Amino acid sequence: MQSSSGEMKLGSIVCQYCGELIDTVDTNRVKILYGVCGLSTCSVNNPKEMEQPLPPQAEQGKRVWHFQEGHAGMKTLLGGKGANLAEMTNAGLPVPPGFTITTDACRAYYSAGGKLPEGLFDEIRSALVKVEQTKKQKFGDSLNPLLVSVRSGSVNSMPGMMDTILNLGLNDNTVKGLASHTGNPQFAYDCYRRLIQMFGNVVFDIEGIHFETLLHRKKNELAIDEDKDVPVEAWIEIIEKFKEVIEWRANVPFPQDVYEQLHLAVEAVFRSWNNQRANVYRKAYNIPDSQGTAVNIQSMVFGNMGDDCGTGVLFTRNPSTGEKALYGEYLINAQGEDVVAGIRTPLPIAKLNQEMPEIYEQLVQTAAKLEAHYKDMQDIEFTVEKGKLFILQTRNGKRTAQAAVKLAVHFVHERILTIEEAMLRIDVEHLNQLLHRAIDEDEKLQVLAVGLPASPGAATGQVVFDADKAEEWSRSGKRVVLVSSETSPEDIHGVIAAEGVLTSRGGMTSHAAVVARGMGKPCVCGCEEVRIDTGEGQFIAGDVKVREGDWITLDGSTGRVIAGTVTLKEPEMSDELGQLLKWADDIRALKIRTNADSPEDAAKARSFGAEGIGLCRTEHMFMSASRLPVVQAMILADNLKDRKAALDQLLPMQQSDFEGIFAAMEGLPVTIRLLDPPLHEFLPNMEELLLRQERMKKDADTIDERSALDQLIRKVRNLQEMNPMLGWRGCRLGILIPEIYQMQVIAIFRAVLALQKKGVQVVPEIMIPLVGHVNELKAMRELVDRTAEDVLGTLKEQVPYQVGTMIEVPRAALTAGQIAQYADFFSFGTNDLTQMTFGYSRDDAEGKFLTHYVEHHILSQNPFQVLDTEGVGLLIEWAVESGRSKKPGLKTGICGEHGGEKDSIFFCHQTGLDYVSCSPFRIPLARIAAAQAQLIHSR
Ligand code: ADP
Ligand code: MG
Ligand code: MG
Repeated sequence: MQSSSGEMKLGSIVCQYCGELIDTVDTNRVKILYGVCGLSTCSVNNPKEMEQPLPPQAEQGKRVWHFQEGHAGMKTLLGGKGANLAEMTNAGLPVPPGFTITTDACRAYYSAGGKLPEGLFDEIRSALVKVEQTKKQKFGDSLNPLLVSVRSGSVNSMPGMMDTILNLGLNDNTVKGLASHTGNPQFAYDCYRRLIQMFGNVVFDIEGIHFETLLHRKKNELAIDEDKDVPVEAWIEIIEKFKEVIEWRANVPFPQDVYEQLHLAVEAVFRSWNNQRANVYRKAYNIPDSQGTAVNIQSMVFGNMGDDCGTGVLFTRNPSTGEKALYGEYLINAQGEDVVAGIRTPLPIAKLNQEMPEIYEQLVQTAAKLEAHYKDMQDIEFTVEKGKLFILQTRNGKRTAQAAVKLAVHFVHERILTIEEAMLRIDVEHLNQLLHRAIDEDEKLQVLAVGLPASPGAATGQVVFDADKAEEWSRSGKRVVLVSSETSPEDIHGVIAAEGVLTSRGGMTSHAAVVARGMGKPCVCGCEEVRIDTGEGQFIAGDVKVREGDWITLDGSTGRVIAGTVTLKEPEMSDELGQLLKWADDIRALKIRTNADSPEDAAKARSFGAEGIGLCRTEHMFMSASRLPVVQAMILADNLKDRKAALDQLLPMQQSDFEGIFAAMEGLPVTIRLLDPPLHEFLPNMEELLLRQERMKKDADTIDERSALDQLIRKVRNLQEMNPMLGWRGCRLGILIPEIYQMQVIAIFRAVLALQKKGVQVVPEIMIPLVGHVNELKAMRELVDRTAEDVLGTLKEQVPYQVGTMIEVPRAALTAGQIAQYADFFSFGTNDLTQMTFGYSRDDAEGKFLTHYVEHHILSQNPFQVLDTEGVGLLIEWAVESGRSKKPGLKTGICGEHGGEKDSIFFCHQTGLDYVSCSPFRIPLARIAAAQAQLIHSR
């Protein structure tokens, strides 16, 4: 308990990789103030860089930094892009010169109500002078003008979510200079029209479509397919039209003053921090709104000057599989945006080896250098200008969970990382997608088309063609697959809502693909066989028409688009995951158990590494069709004799259940919870009974049948409760009808004996649910011990069983010291404990107000997903401490759903619990989270 350790000092835990503030903590309890934020956007970095002190100028509020002045550890101030441009510049890589305006300046921009803070623009102008000197060019010069890009760059990478403007510094005058200086007017005017379009889009918020239609019309008129073939006269014409679009839409002319361009562009990039898609993305990844974006101003290099030029994106390894091979795409004679925007489908990077072998070789070397430098797989942007390579960006590449695991293990083998570093790299939530199901290949599939396998896994859903609809349908509980021709960052909310994404154009590095991979959503890209007709609300593949609302399945691992729904099969664990988990087991202090109610689940959990069962619910066993009538007879019995008769029938069934589960968990502890739910859950539904009664009246059935039904209705009505969650359930049942628990305990011990006879070792733990007062446990413990005595007799010594309780009623936690006297173990049932501590019934809360609470920051998280450490956690800490003070060897664990959630696992580790118990599929994840907890908060 914090109160017992005196004054609570607040410190903060920051992510050791990206500097993100994770939490404020009691420094009395937590010594190490570095953590892992676990965000998928986390720019997991060399931890050493974090230890690098910030240069002293940073403290003095320096707002503009030349690339030479920064380093990779300055992400919080310079944004990820700026910090890495600085790092690469200082590492001697070919980075076009430029500088970064800090995120502090962005925050100042917002607090000044959307104006550049005093003096900032002067600082920008003087920084620009230095770039002019280096490049031997002048901004706004009519002979040899300097052009720059104005690029957004947030602390956590948010690919495509904010804006960038290229070719800034062109106007009616400088474009002529560029044309004559380069001797390439077609190129110069291409740049100019790009600038006007991007400027209109970013600064004046004019939708791209207004420009694109004009361009399309002109190309049709000239019968030209590709932008690069548009002749200079046509560009000049288009530029005039583009300028008219600006005047018309923005009511001001396109600024001819280059400094005005720069001023407006910087402001617009700051503004883009708050555009809709950036906000949606931040919410999805828990990135704080207060962070702000940096702005990078960088001299331009040109990939669109001819066929000895080009631009591309490159991953140093395959981000989908983790395989060690360059992975990427490029376009000849194109400018940056063209590749990622998914306008033209680019060529695979391997082809560059034929087209530009020298450049390819340089890329291979740069990739290796950057990977070793950053100790991680890199996502690199490059441009080739007249046969010379430039690097424009590097960042830790987003990857699938499968790749993340493979990379972590390979980096250890290649001695790039230590095991501990590799372990901390793993984003535990991300692993979840590894354990998703895949398509069962034995089934006959109707493959409609095959596209690029952009993000693995299988997704089934109903087709929708726009992001808003995807969101709307998914809100109403439908599963949807988003189908669109191109991918635009504006569709982010649709991608979040969809099970998977299919696009007919765009490559593996298009925004949709990158975002989908990060989110673990299956994605098929560039599937050109699919012809989309949004007007008709359908797509056509071959001779099959698929309409909005039809079901399809995507296989993001192979790129297949399949008609209808498909059976999915269980996931398999890769060798690398096995290795990583072994390392995790060597590190972690928490034991990991599973919640399993059947031998099958128990076996599966064991294969995932479960070290026992933390919660075996017995009520599911009562629900099967063959048993329910017996259970009902038991509940409805009028007298003890009838009840016992029904229980006698149930006994052998329960015994065989337990034998199965014990056998599957041979040698490991199995916690069996005695019957918990209110009895009416096993009885027929009242409304149905009343309907039946109604019908019988009309049918003039026999009097006997009618009166039997009347009686049943009376009994069901008797058992109905105003508030079943707080009603007659758990040990309250066991105390009033001890025969039920007695039968269960007999079944448990008979099962133990039967297995022992076969030489199977069993470790039973009997758990009494819903105890709130020590006397409840006392009574139930006596019942268990007495029954054990009866069944085991002289064999008692050979069966070392334990009796414990679930701590799920706040009063039990508060009086844990008393309760511990009768308990060998506490298992925190955090679902109920959360319900009762908050006074929320989960079903009502999640359906009615909890989402609102989280969206409006009344609660930071849904406490049913992430343990509320401040309230519920306080009860747990208290119960552990006071329980152990009365009984030092008291075993403690948690068996709510929180047992499989990372932050909650960290909490359990720090509170000193012995184990967490979670569903079978989350066990691998829990093993790694427990190891991370130990690495960060060693105990
Ligand atoms: P995003 O964060 O959306 O990728 P970027 O700022 O990286 O935006 O820029 C968009 C595209 O423009 C990228 O392909 C990038 O390589 C290219 N680009 C940015 N600055 C320059 C520059 N100075 N010269 C050439 N291309 C550039
Ligand atoms: Mg970029
Ligand atoms: Mg409960």
